[in-house]
Amino acid sequence: MVKRSELIKIFASMVTDDMLVLTPIGATSNLWEQTGRGSTSLTSLSLGMCTPTALGLALALPHRKVIALDSDGNLILNLCGLGTVGNEKPRNLTIVVFDNGNYLSGGPGKGKPGMPTATAGNMDLEAVARGCGIIEATTVRSEADFKTAVEKALKGDGPSFIVAKVDQVDLRESKVFREDRGPGQDTRENKYSFVRHVERLENIRILKRGAS
Ligand SMILES: [Mg+2]
Repeated sequence: MVKRSELIKIFASMVTDDMLVLTPIGATSNLWEQTGRGSTSLTSLSLGMCTPTALGLALALPHRKVIALDSDGNLILNLCGLGTVGNEKPRNLTIVVFDNGNYLSGGPGKGKPGMPTATAGNMDLEAVARGCGIIEATTVRSEADFKTAVEKALKGDGPSFIVAKVDQVDLRESKVFREDRGPGQDTRENKYSFVRHVERLENIRILKRGAS
């Protein structure tokens, strides 16, 4: 198994600024923001809302690559979104799930595993995705296989679903706290900076001043 922090560094080296990245609340957002891409990504999405929000963006912007960097605890909480992904089949959507079989948040004092998720038992997220109609689904357990899977997903047609099995505890994760975030943004500031990023990319105006 590999460390989520290492996979996120690899992922950061593979995506370009014109791709939209979304991350859920917890260690994944903290680690992603450490790469310096926080202000142009939508981070710390509420529990269960990373993949569904990415799906909405992918459908709204079908010409643009959208990537959800989800996690097992977050995805399982709102699994019904995968059914909609399988039905809508957005070609531009990639879902990466960092699966440590655990609800470990990576917050202060969380240097050991927390409550197990269902993937610590029999649940197979790749099989769930296939069952929802997502054909391009795979599970990886090494940095090399992760890189290959992400390369394929970013170049080809989706929706793509990559389960990356990662260590339960990544000591680097447990040291990354909210106050250490790169741009020092809170979630409101992040929302505005992300929307402005989309506006620049698409040459459109999304947020407008009110009439009064
Ligand atoms: Mg987890």
